Amino acid sequence: MNLNFFDTKIEFLKGIGPQRAALLNKELNIFTFRDLLQHYPFRHEDRTTFQQIRDIDERIPNVHIKGRLRDWHLVGEGSKKRLVATFSDSTGSMELVWFQGISYFEKYLRPNGEYIIYGKPAFFGGRWSITHPEMDLATPENTAGGYWQPIYPLTEKLRRKNIDSKVIGKVIQQLLEMAWPNIKETLPEYVMEKYRLIGKRDALWQFHNPQNAAWLRQAQRRLKFEELFYNQFRLIKNKLLHKTEFPGLVFKKTDLVHRFYKEHIPFELTGAQTRVLKEIHSDLLTGKQMNRLLQGDVGSGKTIVAFISMLFALDNDAQACLMAPTEILADQHYQGLRKFAEPLGVNIGKLTGSTRKKERERIHAQLLGGEMQIIVGTHALIEDIVQFRNLGLCIIDEQHRFGVAQRAKLWAKNKRINPHMLVMTATPIPRTLAMTLYGDLDISAIDELPAGRKPIQTVHRYDAHRSSVFGFVKDEIAKGRQIYMVYPLIEESEKLDLKDLMDGYESVARSFPGVPLSILHGKMKAKDKDYEMQRFVNRETKIMVATTVIEVGVNVPNASVMIIENAERFGLSQLHQLRGRVGRGADQSYCILMTSYKISADTRLRIETMCRTNDGFEISEVDLQLRGPGDLSGTQQSGVTDLLVANLAQDGAILKEARITAEAILESDQDLLQPENSAIRLHLENLGKEESNWSRIS
Ligand code: ADP
Ligand code: MG
Repeated sequence: MNLNFFDTKIEFLKGIGPQRAALLNKELNIFTFRDLLQHYPFRHEDRTTFQQIRDIDERIPNVHIKGRLRDWHLVGEGSKKRLVATFSDSTGSMELVWFQGISYFEKYLRPNGEYIIYGKPAFFGGRWSITHPEMDLATPENTAGGYWQPIYPLTEKLRRKNIDSKVIGKVIQQLLEMAWPNIKETLPEYVMEKYRLIGKRDALWQFHNPQNAAWLRQAQRRLKFEELFYNQFRLIKNKLLHKTEFPGLVFKKTDLVHRFYKEHIPFELTGAQTRVLKEIHSDLLTGKQMNRLLQGDVGSGKTIVAFISMLFALDNDAQACLMAPTEILADQHYQGLRKFAEPLGVNIGKLTGSTRKKERERIHAQLLGGEMQIIVGTHALIEDIVQFRNLGLCIIDEQHRFGVAQRAKLWAKNKRINPHMLVMTATPIPRTLAMTLYGDLDISAIDELPAGRKPIQTVHRYDAHRSSVFGFVKDEIAKGRQIYMVYPLIEESEKLDLKDLMDGYESVARSFPGVPLSILHGKMKAKDKDYEMQRFVNRETKIMVATTVIEVGVNVPNASVMIIENAERFGLSQLHQLRGRVGRGADQSYCILMTSYKISADTRLRIETMCRTNDGFEISEVDLQLRGPGDLSGTQQSGVTDLLVANLAQDGAILKEARITAEAILESDQDLLQPENSAIRLHLENLGKEESNWSRIS
């Protein structure tokens, strides 16, 4: 038994050699046997049955046919030059066409040879043809019963060097045979029994080379379960570690909290707000450090929950801080919290990159002295010079914009005892994602809006109907409302997008003579942005023409209409986020999504979803289905994209089973001392040697 077998370099594998190894290193990041075995196919093509030429129709994306090669000849000149062969089975005949590698095929094709071909058929000039089909001489093996072809991630360069899925498949096959005795089971017997999972060896074998559809399914399920199990195991282990290793301040006293409830609270809390506050408060009593995620849609009322949580700290002689990713957001939080804090006589401050030196020094001193009880700010808060007398609670808004390292830096602001952590996000994410992204946090959700809100009405209009949309805008302005008009702006097409925005601005100016307008985009100086924003806030301007810079941080309750131009260019969560800028006042609000007539099926689904629901959680589920987990905001550096086989958009059920299993094992046998859990312990020990940083997703 050789523990390092899987670390063997791939050049030592027969059929690879130094040149191919270098290519695989460079193109696919495959260095070792382990890398190669984990180079999983992303799909499998069913080549278990053969079609007949007579049955080809355009609904079959690829055909698999056994037949004979009749004759071939060269046709055309220059770039049109091609080799055309006639291929037939007992039911008819078709053409095979090559534009490239002509001399190679001329040399190797066997007249009247029996071949198996695979490819995408097209109908040209009254005949079916396939351009550049995959082609193999028929053998007893590939003829009997056919096979499933695994399709591997490849690059253009590899293809040019004739390394295709078949080649990779063969190499892996050979490696699997060699590796067989070294492959160890990584899941306990009883877990495999309970969830009816096949063994690791079989799973690897069948995933790379499935015998039939049933085995393929079993193999996938097993590998997904394993991957999600270890993902959850690490996260939950981390979470438990915090709970057992890190003591937390105990916030028992509730004087200020009670006074706030009795004398100052401006509205009745929703059921969801009350529930979440109970969850938070019970964490603050355990004597362990709280690590909790607070999810809630825009407008669900997170601010007051954050504030009351802070009061728990203040009541117990501790301080609280709130960190936001941008100055605008920090300022907005500060304004929101100040309204609650001042009547109570609570000393609250704001610290950002643009805070003046004098003010900054005053704040530093007051935080160190303890006179300042709440501080709201940006990254400026984590600088070493910011020290507290007794920091008890850190609230981080919009977690995904902050790295884990920054979270840790905030912790360290209390040398005696880690402050409690509350992470807030206004971007609802699906449960499966929350479990993996934030699996080490406890999760609370405000899933209810304050009563009496009028749901925003969302409609879809085509560009051709702009004049009626503008007519509606005129009416709303006449009623005293304000309007947002949003244009997409992405870096890749920045210049064009800016031009769009300017053209849009001019056309709005022409269509609304005499109506004062504001314009806002990321390329403007901060000073100019503020100026334009202020004019809009003060109702001096009626229409704000802007890019997505308004996505976060703008709060103008009187703005009740949002028009989103080129809505097809926005992702679902971004549309939802933008829409959250309206519906903040008492008036009925509207969101109008403008597109051209020509939109894709995906765009249609996005727009329909927006028109159907205002529920951020529901929207995030659709977004996940449409885009897959890798592209959702915030998942990039999170480790979710490290998943090799599991897909969070599809594997929610397996994830749940994996999580329950991991929880149960960690609960009963945290140190994996029980013999029945030895497979897990050994696997983690092995991993630990190779990638000692496996716990980086903390
Ligand atoms: P979030 O930060 O979750 O987007 P806010 O905390 O800014 O939402 O709250 C949105 C608006 O709703 C604010 O004007 C706030 O005062 C108000 N609000 C919050 N909770 C309630 C409630 N329970 N009843 C009535 N209004 C509420
Ligand atoms: Mg907010």
